[in-house]
Amino acid sequence: MRKIIGITGGIASGKSTVSRFLRQEGYQVVDADAVVHQLQKPGGRLYRILVDHFGEKILLENGELNRPLLASLIFSNPEEQEWSKETQGELIREELGFVRDKLAQTEDLFFMDIPLLFEQEYASWFDETWLVYVSRDTQMDRLMKRDYLTMEDAQARLASQWPLEEKKRLASHILDNNGSREQLLSQVGSLLQGGDTLERD
Ligand code: ADP
Repeated sequence: MRKIIGITGGIASGKSTVSRFLRQEGYQVVDADAVVHQLQKPGGRLYRILVDHFGEKILLENGELNRPLLASLIFSNPEEQEWSKETQGELIREELGFVRDKLAQTEDLFFMDIPLLFEQEYASWFDETWLVYVSRDTQMDRLMKRDYLTMEDAQARLASQWPLEEKKRLASHILDNNGSREQLLSQVGSLLQGGDTLERD
């Protein structure tokens, strides 16, 4: 039977680390962020919409979007966040649906890494949802280090997502990433082997 598994978590909780491992194991993993980046490239379906909305100030000299500026414009303003969620959200859903249907024709088991899986109501697309979970302190630490953010910027990014504690109640499986990478990947390994020890009770 075909199975589609959604991977989610919070920013810097370890989703990419899990996805990378799954790809090494030979599985297809759709990266929702990469799909969004494609849509936002010059010529992509979201590019023109964003430039029309924010103006040319969001462009770099080479015509690409200035991503850090765009992120800070959106994350610093609740109205822009709402606009982005609605306008971009709809097109992104359409595109992800297209990618999913295409893979479903060839793969028995594949994954989709969607950071806002619960917030944007993608859960019903999946047979299982795997949450890469970390404590808030660890998440802040790893986020600030990875993206060179100040504490305020990191907090603003976290504030735009649901707390991981809440997502924990919604996910079908939890991967605890408070420990080492090895510990994380061994949990993935056991889920792949059909282990159910991590199934949420
Ligand atoms: P996400 O894709 O959810 O945003 P990443 O997989 O990029 O998160 O992980 C966030 C950061 O934390 C990265 O710099 C990654 O290398 C690091 N990281 C992930 N898991 C661990 C871990 N178990 N121990 C230490 N660092 C980790």
